[in-house]
Amino acid sequence: MKNIVLMGPPGAGKGTQAKLIIAEHNLPHISTGDMFREAIKNQTPLGKIASQYINDGHLVPDDVTIGLVKERLSMDDCANGYILDGFPRTLVQAEALKKLTEEINRPITAVLNIDAPKDLLVERISGRRVCKTCGAPYHIVNRKPKVEGVCDNCGGELYQRKDDNIDALNTRLDIYNKDTAPILDYYAKEGLLYTFDGTIGAEKLIQEINALLEGK
Ligand code: ADP
Ligand code: ZN
Repeated sequence: MKNIVLMGPPGAGKGTQAKLIIAEHNLPHISTGDMFREAIKNQTPLGKIASQYINDGHLVPDDVTIGLVKERLSMDDCANGYILDGFPRTLVQAEALKKLTEEINRPITAVLNIDAPKDLLVERISGRRVCKTCGAPYHIVNRKPKVEGVCDNCGGELYQRKDDNIDALNTRLDIYNKDTAPILDYYAKEGLLYTFDGTIGAEKLIQEINALLEGK
């Protein structure tokens, strides 16, 4: 069973790998960041809470985030596997996730950790642009669209996320080191952790990830 958690600092390439993994293995992609952004766009009650935290790079409170994930993982389409992207981000979330996935009989089978050095993360995030319509990621230097400001896939408009500025990014990196990185030890002790080099390029990386997932 592929009940997968994707981890790594902002800019490591989780979103890109998640899209490649779902294309190959047909798993539902559960990105808490995407769910919050969607809620903000639709101005739902959840979106109103989340926007107070997200734009300057802080974490949305654990109880809100855990409730959202619990509801999502309990849906029918997660019965044959899932890929969690951006959750858990704190030890409290990791412990809650263990408990709730065991309760619904969908326990985590692998944690894929994508790692990259800080200077690369800063370069990737500060030049990142995202399609408003389909979420495809671009970069102003490394991955330009064919037409500036326009998505190659769907023709949607490209924009810069509010939290992709240098101040919010520094906050996100600090929070990652302080609150999220300790989870890696937790998963290593559970025997679930597999770490990958996020600097080698998306195509090579997906080959390594797929090689590991074959046996899962
Ligand atoms: P990135 O990995 O690039 O930082 P995400 O799209 O995963 O971005 O998340 C964007 C923002 O959404 C986070 O900075 C945080 O404010 C909020 N968020 C996403 N997942 C969580 C989570 N598990 N716990 C708390 N906040 C979260
Ligand atoms: Zn698009």
